[in-house]
Amino acid sequence: MFAEYDLTLGQFSPNVASDSQNHFIHNIYQIQTNAMTGKSRWADDEADKAARKREKEEKKRSKLEKQQRLEQAEAERKAREAEAAATERNQNEDDGDRPAKRRKLSQEIDAPRELLRFVVPSWGPSRHVSNFELLNHIDEGTYGWVSRARESSTGEIVALKKLKMDRTADYGFPVMALREIQMLQESRHKHIVGLREVVIGDSAEDVYVALEFVEHDLRTLQEDMDQPFMPSEVKTLLLQITSAVEYLHDHWILHRDLKTSNILMNNRGEIKLADFGMARHFGDPPPPNLTQLVVTLWYRAPELILGADKYDQAIDMWSLGCVFGELLKKDTLFAGNGELDQITKIFELCGLPSERSWPSFRRLPNAKALKLPINPAPAATYSVVRTRFPLASNAGAELLDSLLSLNPASRPSASEVLAHRYFRDDPKPKASSMFPTFPSKAGMERRRKVLTPEAPIRGDAPKLSAEGLDLSLVFSIRE
Ligand code: ADP
Repeated sequence: MFAEYDLTLGQFSPNVASDSQNHFIHNIYQIQTNAMTGKSRWADDEADKAARKREKEEKKRSKLEKQQRLEQAEAERKAREAEAAATERNQNEDDGDRPAKRRKLSQEIDAPRELLRFVVPSWGPSRHVSNFELLNHIDEGTYGWVSRARESSTGEIVALKKLKMDRTADYGFPVMALREIQMLQESRHKHIVGLREVVIGDSAEDVYVALEFVEHDLRTLQEDMDQPFMPSEVKTLLLQITSAVEYLHDHWILHRDLKTSNILMNNRGEIKLADFGMARHFGDPPPPNLTQLVVTLWYRAPELILGADKYDQAIDMWSLGCVFGELLKKDTLFAGNGELDQITKIFELCGLPSERSWPSFRRLPNAKALKLPINPAPAATYSVVRTRFPLASNAGAELLDSLLSLNPASRPSASEVLAHRYFRDDPKPKASSMFPTFPSKAGMERRRKVLTPEAPIRGDAPKLSAEGLDLSLVFSIRE
């Protein structure tokens, strides 16, 4: 059916048209008719309802189809990617170990996981000093009072060192004491004194370290001996001391206060190195701005006296040389009564430093204060160690001379000392079990106070004031 709108009649007239045209016209016609009859234009008939329902179903179905197509495309994309990754992995494995850019570097661990377990030192409250019975006072050092004591439950005899607290420091517990405890904890060696435990008293300022008790220190022992140690005994002592120093240096620890009063010996001839209050860790290269005022004056290396703030193991090797000389001589090698006197005594035995023997010495802060000849006469630069130790063997004098090199770089390391022919030559080192026993001052068998200089209170090196002292004159007698 087709309808035309007849303007004259003011209404539609039926005509012939296509189906779609008919449908359109039917709708218009219907709208118009409805308008004319007063019926709502949305009041559809049954056919319209069915058509809309079909349309709706059609839409739903196409939406579902679209969704299915998308899902399928996504699944195919993932499969392609997985295949590509597998191919790439295979290629990489064939190519070697080089990982591909997108290859996951972390390994998937399928094995059951376990917790890592470490053995850590256990922490617990320190015991009270009342667990120890005080027997006798031994000595007062720079940093503590040392007494002999007995542990009540085991009966073990220990040396109980009550640490002196630094009342001038506002941070309480003294750094030196902490260092000493830490270093002793780290240093477990046959020839280093054993730390038993740290105990406390009634107040926070009462801190003690309980150390294995050792009957003698080499300084007091030598003072009480009529004769010096025999050459074979000196060898044994030096071997043991050097092995402790080698251990420390191998573990990057400088002792910084090696001297005979800190070297203990038990009644079985065994050496135990003690007093770690000055010890510290070092590195390679050594850390800058190290404390200059270290090592008891008589054992202090020339570079320290001249104000070096960069130093290394060689300062301990100098002190070892002083100890060696003291064992041979049964007397202090350089007993200076001040820095200037000390360096004068050193130069007097070891010779004046020259550009050739110690090129960098003039750059040391205190070197300018010394009126040293620029080109000293050769006789003034020679060491007189050999002539001053006529009883020492050639090898012994040679070893002592090398340890007492003014230039720290020329001193041997502890390992080099241990390998020196001095220890292989006759007389061979005496077995420590063959050492004589001596009455122990620390064990109250004999008491006598020996006056020796104490370790310095750490700080900056004092300025050398060489006013009026022309060192070239001191050595003119040698020429
Ligand atoms: P400080 O650090 O205060 O100088 P030290 O540790 O050097 O104190 O001890 C001072 C003195 O006490 C030593 O010279 C030694 O005679 C004695 N002494 C130290 N430790 C022991 C010990 N384990 N056994 C026996 N005597 C010791």
